[in-house]
Amino acid sequence: MLYYSTRKKAPAASLSEAVTKGLAPDGGLYMPEQMGLLPEDFFKRMYSMDFQDIAFEVAMYFLGNDLPAGELKRMVYDTLDFPVPLVHIHDRLCTLELFHGPTMAFKDVGARFMARLLGYFTRCDHQELNVLVATSGDTGSAVANGFFQIPGIRVFVLYPRGLVSTVQEKQFTTLGGNITAISVEGTFDDCQTIVKQAFADEELNRHMKLTSANSINWARLLPQSFYYFWGVAQLGRDTGDIVCAVPSGNFGNICAGLIAKRLGLPVAHFIAATNINDIVPQYLKNGNFNPRPSVATIANAMDVGNPSNFARIIDLYHGSHENISRDISGFVSTDEQIRLTIKDVYTNHGYLLDPHGATGYRALKSCMDNHPSTSGFFIETAHPAKFTEIVESSINQEIALPPNLARFSNKISQIVEMPASFEAFKEFLI
Ligand SMILES: *Cc1c(COP(=O)(O)O)cnc(C)c1O
Repeated sequence: MLYYSTRKKAPAASLSEAVTKGLAPDGGLYMPEQMGLLPEDFFKRMYSMDFQDIAFEVAMYFLGNDLPAGELKRMVYDTLDFPVPLVHIHDRLCTLELFHGPTMAFKDVGARFMARLLGYFTRCDHQELNVLVATSGDTGSAVANGFFQIPGIRVFVLYPRGLVSTVQEKQFTTLGGNITAISVEGTFDDCQTIVKQAFADEELNRHMKLTSANSINWARLLPQSFYYFWGVAQLGRDTGDIVCAVPSGNFGNICAGLIAKRLGLPVAHFIAATNINDIVPQYLKNGNFNPRPSVATIANAMDVGNPSNFARIIDLYHGSHENISRDISGFVSTDEQIRLTIKDVYTNHGYLLDPHGATGYRALKSCMDNHPSTSGFFIETAHPAKFTEIVESSINQEIALPPNLARFSNKISQIVEMPASFEAFKEFLI
């Protein structure tokens, strides 16, 4: 299958070009040229299939002509070797827990799949690939763990010194091997600027093959569509209309859900749950898309002022605000509402939310209260223990660190320290 750029000013790209480039040369995002309905019988069989088999069928639709089926099957099965359970909270309101992977956030799915796909293409063309990633926390740990020990690929994680939580820092500084952690004396924006300069530097690009692992990459987005099918399959038949709420920042996760819907998945409506960085909820309300600098919140993985995957959503609906707002609505939560929700759901239903999941719960609950015949699930994007201080202070109780997070804490960090300077980074790489 070929991929076009959302800005329509770049030539069509093959899968391998689209995923090694990440961004199209015209600055647009790659989209697959075909997105029709999956066969009707798949939607009948789906309810008795397991997650990996469902994922493989969806993956075949997009990638079946680009990779040998056996290779693709191994990629999908390896990526999804952890459970993604649908957990019932109350009434017909459920959550799809996407935090059982190695770094306990949903980004594990995209990062692990992308690592395997890039590993395959790198094996085919025998040239070492260098992945650069700037992170404020979650992305760095998911990418580092996803790419750890993938042959032919080296990863450089740039993060702002002292501005990443201890748990998160341990997750990408203790791996060693093909993962190099670089602590930059500056902010997240400085890290991102250095990475962008690296991609633009001709000398550096002559020297080594560089690519990025951020969420605009099709290889990270595509596998996220798999779990929406699995969520619906676990919910079962005869559910009434299904509503799905997605805690959103760069809008990659919800975009993958909308792609699943386009393939025929019976979800009636999506809700984009955000913190007070409500650029997209505002757009859904009044049709005006006004990016602005992000504001810090306690759901910080969603502190985004210019959501990068929004261009894909616009493209999916040919720019029609009317059609977009038929399928998606927005729902905004303040820090205080997030804390109250964590406390309330824990006290009344015995379920512990993380701050991001809490925005999803609130959005879904409000919609289901207004539409009593619906069923629904929200995506729980991270394990609550990744945000210990916020969760503990919300419920006035200590929580345990799960083994997946604790296993990093005794390991020794290996960190390269660097000033916020592209020249220093370039010298280090060469
Ligand atoms: C990245 C992230 C999000 C936002 O996902 P997008 O795909 O950027 O919308 C939400 N919650 C957590 C925990 C995240 O790490």
